[in-house]
Amino acid sequence: MNCINLLEEQMLEEAFDRWQKRRDMVAERGIHHSVTSGAMYKTTDPMDKPKERDAYHGVCERCQFYEHMGAEPTNVEAKSLFKMRWGNQIHFDCYRLWEARGVLAKKEGDMAGLYEHPDLEFPISYRPDALLFDDDEYSLIDIKTTYGYGFSKIPKWSQRWQMSWYAKLLDPRAYEEWGIEISEYVITFFARDNANRRSLVAGKHFDFMDIDDVSVWVHLEECLKKKEVPERSYDRTHWMCKYCDYRDLCWEAHKNV
Ligand code: SF4
Repeated sequence: MNCINLLEEQMLEEAFDRWQKRRDMVAERGIHHSVTSGAMYKTTDPMDKPKERDAYHGVCERCQFYEHMGAEPTNVEAKSLFKMRWGNQIHFDCYRLWEARGVLAKKEGDMAGLYEHPDLEFPISYRPDALLFDDDEYSLIDIKTTYGYGFSKIPKWSQRWQMSWYAKLLDPRAYEEWGIEISEYVITFFARDNANRRSLVAGKHFDFMDIDDVSVWVHLEECLKKKEVPERSYDRTHWMCKYCDYRDLCWEAHKNV
């Protein structure tokens, strides 16, 4: 018996079921852009390192196109699924421990929402991780898992982008809907390999960024309407392509597109 194979087969089968359910759900409810996927535009933000400026960040436009069109993933790997599960487990532990500590005011599902952007046909969905209340202050927390060596590169562009959206959307909502004021926006990092932890606070460790430019999503919507596969945001050697679930579809079936 190969017990690892059995785990992997089950993991892949469950991932396929999840993909089918998600495809059916999108077909029924319509497309949402996602702040969580960190998408994205070509940035000229001076906070970025020179090689990061004028480059794409976040989930590839073509990859988002495949997802929204309900294309079947061609390259799902058990290893990536396991990694994702370890990350999820850290989220669950954070919720459980904060809750037991009596400081968890809201968790992700309580704060999920949709935002209708004037330049877009499809709404933008958002889902921050946790709102904590301690010392008479509310803190909005986004949990990220990475590796010890990744701590030198935090916060990433897409993480600042995501937090900037949360501040824009949740500040007014907290005040009008929940009658509270959010004092700080925090990205909390956990390293999966050496269990290091670090919290970065907006305004202290990083700045919010300009999120007005949604031109990539405007272009993506045009492609979706015309059913035209958009250009690739990355080249084949980029880590985003290495881990992409649509690698063969993109580079083989659509190699001339
Ligand atoms: S393989 Fe690379 S270029 Fe193609 S869809 Fe995936 S991330 Fe985009």
